[in-house]
Amino acid sequence: MTTSTERVQSHIPAETPELAHFIGGEWVPSHGVFTLTDPNTAELTGSSPVADSDTVDRAVKAARAAFEEWRRTTPRERGEYLNRLADRIDEASEQLAQLESWNVGKPISNAREEIPLLVDLLRFYAGAARLGENTAAGEYERGMTSIVLREPVGVVGLIAPWNYPLLEAVWKIGPALAAGNTVVLKPSELTPYTTVVLAKLAASVLPAGVLNVVLGDGMTGAAIVDHPGIEMVSLTGDGGTGKKIAAAASNTLKRVHLELGGKAPVLVFDDSDVEYASEYLAMAGFTNTGQDCTAACRVIVHDSVYESFMEKYVANVRRLRVGDPADPETQVGPLVSERQLERVLGFLERAGETSARVLTGGSRVDRPGFFIEPTVLVDVNQDDEVVQKEVFGPVVTVQRAASEEEMLRLANDVNYGLSASIWTRDLSRTIRLTKDLSFGTVWVNGHLTTVAEMPFGGFGQSGYGKELSGRSMDEYSQVKHVMISQTRV
Ligand code: NAD
Repeated sequence: MTTSTERVQSHIPAETPELAHFIGGEWVPSHGVFTLTDPNTAELTGSSPVADSDTVDRAVKAARAAFEEWRRTTPRERGEYLNRLADRIDEASEQLAQLESWNVGKPISNAREEIPLLVDLLRFYAGAARLGENTAAGEYERGMTSIVLREPVGVVGLIAPWNYPLLEAVWKIGPALAAGNTVVLKPSELTPYTTVVLAKLAASVLPAGVLNVVLGDGMTGAAIVDHPGIEMVSLTGDGGTGKKIAAAASNTLKRVHLELGGKAPVLVFDDSDVEYASEYLAMAGFTNTGQDCTAACRVIVHDSVYESFMEKYVANVRRLRVGDPADPETQVGPLVSERQLERVLGFLERAGETSARVLTGGSRVDRPGFFIEPTVLVDVNQDDEVVQKEVFGPVVTVQRAASEEEMLRLANDVNYGLSASIWTRDLSRTIRLTKDLSFGTVWVNGHLTTVAEMPFGGFGQSGYGKELSGRSMDEYSQVKHVMISQTRV
């Protein structure tokens, strides 16, 4: 393992905002207490405020006050607000991409690709708000007419992770606002910058109090979950955090939506296009430095194509350009934090005590910052920690199997159930396996892609509830049956 002592100067983007909470349309300054670091250089860059329970209470009260009017807006009005917010984000895309890249250590090319996706997502929900599916009014009792109203849940607490800070925030605020809720949003303590810019953009578009942002760590998140004025909490985060939130939310019987970790299996069959799969999967395993809950991190290859696939796959992984996230040529950046670096190194160290063999990578990159080489491990056993637990770093395991049945068994034999992919040209096999794989998303000859129109969410330990699509609006809505007597009284 090598580390360099050479120093690299951190380049703070020109339009970096002051970090403050945004409550009821106003900026609420607070003393910074969480130290922020540039993942590319390991240099300290500043500190972020951490909201206490009084600040959270203030945000909930602002959201509650705004809810009274916001819930009465028509879907068309909410759609217009969301479209205007999409316009503002679109105009600020380069600033947002630069900040996200710098704060997360995400390659700038990836950060630039993310912004149009969330602009599109807001525009999708601007339209979806107006298409709310309603059961037709009907008569199910003589002399009585029944209608179903779809109503917002109320004030919702949205807690986001650090790997896609802005994207995850917008995945949540889009459907939540479209459904008529008001929001208290908390970004991860590690990555507050783009969420603060989002609040600035929202300030010029949304009525005060509709979107509130509180900065802070797990303690702030816990204050959101505990607050009796919050009707629902949506988390994207770690499984352990999800369990704590589900337990704490039971005190107030809040609705809970959990998007947790994953350990995506990738089944490469003998009839697949091995060349294409090896190229695509080298990208899909290491995008965002593997800090992606759908990362193609658990490759299972049929015996008969194992050698030819591995030769190409490992060559493609070795070709990935690791380096400064600000360089447009960079494909793999650093991990987000020193803690995440230590966590991934811990997995590699423990894997080194098993039969696992490193085919490429396995060490820190010889430069400052939180870099680990893209790593491929083989000769792993199904019950090894590195196969069973989410590493959330640039580490892929490859297993070989002799039959479809064995590949399916290995794929399903984890506690997670977020996503999987199958690489085959056989239609019958595709249909068989898409039914039998226990994962919320199954790609065929592809991986990673999500679209606004289709639901995304996990099975098992990957959580419950759906992001994206009209189903996410359902998560943020409640239905009410109204029964009207036709008898004059
Ligand atoms: P994390 O659970 O540590 O933090 C997520 C958020 O929860 C942060 O904002 C954090 O401050 C907050 N938090 C922490 N403790 C809390 C508590 N007790 N109560 C309330 N809030 C609390 O996760 P992370 O490290 O930021 O993100 C990485 C994890 O997120 C990975 O496990 C990854 O798989 C998962 N993830 C899942 C998806 C998905 O859609 N399923 C997407 C991205 C990331």
